[in-house]
Amino acid sequence: MTNRAIDHDADPWAEARVMLDMPGGMLNIAYEAVDRHVIHGRGNETAMLWLGKSGDRQDLSYADIARQSSRFANVLATHGLASGDSVFVLLGRVPELYIAALGTLKAGMVFTPLFSAFGPGPIRTRMEIGAAKVLVTTPELYKRKIAAWRDEISTLKLVLVTGEDATEGCVALGPAMEAASPDFDTVPTRPEDPALIHFTSGTTGRPKGAVHVHEAVLYHAFSGRHALDLTPGTTYWCTADPGWVTGTSYGIIAPLVQRVKMIVDEAEFDLNRWYGTIEREKVEVWYSAPTAIRMMMRAGSDVAKPYNFSSLRFLASVGEPLNPEAVVWSEKVFGKPFHDNWWQTETGGIMIANLPGMTVKPGAMGRPMPGIKAGIVKREDGTLKELGTGEIGELALRPGWPSMMRDYLNEQARYDKCFVDGWYLSGDLATRDQDGYFWFVGRADDLIKTSGHLVGPFEVESVLIEHPAVAEAGVIGLPDKTAGEIVKAYVTLNPGFTASAALEQDLRGHARKRLGPAVSPRAVVFRENLPKTRSGKIMRRLLKARELGLPEGDISTLETDEK
Ligand code: ATP
Ligand code: MG
Repeated sequence: MTNRAIDHDADPWAEARVMLDMPGGMLNIAYEAVDRHVIHGRGNETAMLWLGKSGDRQDLSYADIARQSSRFANVLATHGLASGDSVFVLLGRVPELYIAALGTLKAGMVFTPLFSAFGPGPIRTRMEIGAAKVLVTTPELYKRKIAAWRDEISTLKLVLVTGEDATEGCVALGPAMEAASPDFDTVPTRPEDPALIHFTSGTTGRPKGAVHVHEAVLYHAFSGRHALDLTPGTTYWCTADPGWVTGTSYGIIAPLVQRVKMIVDEAEFDLNRWYGTIEREKVEVWYSAPTAIRMMMRAGSDVAKPYNFSSLRFLASVGEPLNPEAVVWSEKVFGKPFHDNWWQTETGGIMIANLPGMTVKPGAMGRPMPGIKAGIVKREDGTLKELGTGEIGELALRPGWPSMMRDYLNEQARYDKCFVDGWYLSGDLATRDQDGYFWFVGRADDLIKTSGHLVGPFEVESVLIEHPAVAEAGVIGLPDKTAGEIVKAYVTLNPGFTASAALEQDLRGHARKRLGPAVSPRAVVFRENLPKTRSGKIMRRLLKARELGLPEGDISTLETDEK
């Protein structure tokens, strides 16, 4: 079915409703993602090809995952846990993570992934906010990060550790799974029952715990098909970690619901490993992020030359603005452009996208997904006004799609503030062009006002990246008596370039030529690294706080730290 043939106005998700079973009115993500395929005779197909750090491989079929996730659900049930209890999972990208996620959902409990590289503080805060009843982790992570304060989490009833040996106070997952039955009657959850809690990336401040319900699976199915071109049997690789929403919505749920063969790589980014994986496994659809793409660009296109990328049919990117330069580069290296798409933890699924077959405008996020109504709005006289073509305002969405968050945990006021006059406010600024494409301008907090101009950091960063010396750029506004704010840029350099006063001048000259004197940076500073969240987003608020000597705020998700 083509996009145009669907009557999205009548019931945008009708197609997904027809595709899913929903037996007896039950809507359960794990049932639809795994057991449904087994019931329909597809149990032998590969669900996941797992690539271990040190070269080992595991091929898990839909039937394998169905049985193992049932065992996991039985383990939870024998410990007296009940529907609605939250199960936190602190694991790297190992099969147990995926089994635990699906088993938790089958048991009607709430899956809450935590990025495994978090330190003890961020883990503890999130477990407190989410009233964790169960934690699944490794013995090493438990001893190093959890054991010291585990007893202080009053809600915590059970800690499961991977492997065969029980660490003190924990239950070993291996023997528990062995003893459990591979049959489990999925708890008949209803569409509005909570299924997932995802913490936001903390780019703009203290992370929020967004609650999603089982009905989200309708949207995952729908958007997986239309925004990522996932069809049964597709070899698909989502490089995001399930500790972040992309790695769950499009790294577990959407691909399994669409019956694809998922590649899961346990290792961290490694250029030759990544290129080799695409070639060897014949990856067809690849979903990645701008930070990774910029790392590939930094290494240069020669590294890519020996590899054969002819299996790739669709490339997509999310998480940060995708610089036009990156789109052009990918066309050169992979023969296909990266298709940018935009969404947030709160939206649970892709909202704005360059769909397969659509003309890609480098630098644009694409158009609203079928069934999604997006607008550019501005607050005026206490109400929201929708702006026209070319105007900059806040990107807003009409609520009502299935994967929309239902709550911010323990933060009613923060949640309520997102909904105004029938719109959901995203906190991002954008413009829409005459063809209906949306262009990212910046986070509302990052907008720079200089000499009467509104400057989005993305525009300036993208221009700097066009310069052969620049690998990455972060741009902020600093207070200035005459101009209101002045633009300052931080850049990292490509190999072969060295920081110097002459290069700084050259970069400023380049930016001035492309942007004009009012908007181009007054100063360019060279850095080894830019501060980023663990999900790879540049933390501009931190550049600014450090520059101004202000408190750094919540830095629980900070990865690279170089002042
Ligand atoms: P926090 O809300 O805690 O500050 P965060 O907003 O970074 O963190 P996420 O929900 O992981 O947490 O990220 C969503 C945000 O990422 C979007 O609001 C947007 O600012 C940015 N983003 C995602 N995709 C794109 C894109 N394609 N282009 C530009 N920005 C994007
Ligand atoms: Mg956000």
